[in-house]
Amino acid sequence: ARKFFVGGNFKMNGSLTEIETIIERINEAKFDGSTEIVVAPPALYLLKIQEELKAPSQVAAQNSFTEKSGAFTGEISPSQLKDANVHWVILGHSERRSLFGDTDKLVADKVKAAIENGLAVIACVGESLEQREAGETQEIVERQLETIAKEISESEWKDVVIAYEPVWAIGTGKVATKEQAQEVHDQIRKWLAKRVTQSVADQTRIIYGGSVNGKNCADLANAPDIDGFLVGGASLKPEFIDICNSHK
Ligand code: 13P
Repeated sequence: ARKFFVGGNFKMNGSLTEIETIIERINEAKFDGSTEIVVAPPALYLLKIQEELKAPSQVAAQNSFTEKSGAFTGEISPSQLKDANVHWVILGHSERRSLFGDTDKLVADKVKAAIENGLAVIACVGESLEQREAGETQEIVERQLETIAKEISESEWKDVVIAYEPVWAIGTGKVATKEQAQEVHDQIRKWLAKRVTQSVADQTRIIYGGSVNGKNCADLANAPDIDGFLVGGASLKPEFIDICNSHK
């Protein structure tokens, strides 16, 4: 069975005080242990928040680079995250792809470097509205995944959570329907079975992201191939707790 996984991507939001309030709320919440919870504050706050966040919840970085060290101003290496005991990193987020030049190949190289350094990766894929309307959703998602599959071995998929985040649903309030998300998740799982192995397909968590909130999460969580969520805006709010508890 795949353990339900909920990630909170804070993006570039919050002051230290605001983020500490969010973390306090998570620390005080009741969870039944059936969901893995990972929150990604801005890099500046990672160490402090890691100290304050109660186990078993964990922190994630929002990005990492391909190289170990060197003249790469502004970047953080996977080995530095490992050194700081930050176990998770979000890679390939659509905002990184569209605003900061993360190509499929760069994302795949980052995924490879992160896994080689002992990190676990939330790897984001997803189509734009134009691509969906042109009927290209599956082609786009598979192209993004194929580039990653070329860089990692079968056994390394255990360190990957796939986040399907349709770009048109991110920050728009336009959540994918349960049927829309389930269809893509099912096709991703079938692709994993064909491209990698059936056991990787059975074991890999495929989570959904894009306008998930406290109201729409329960319905989505019911879909057989939705193994959790990557939450943006709502991860800053009290309803994040409900989303973490949406798996029944
Ligand atoms: P929203 O939940 O704000 O739509 O953002 C989703 C997202 O991008 C999570 O990574």
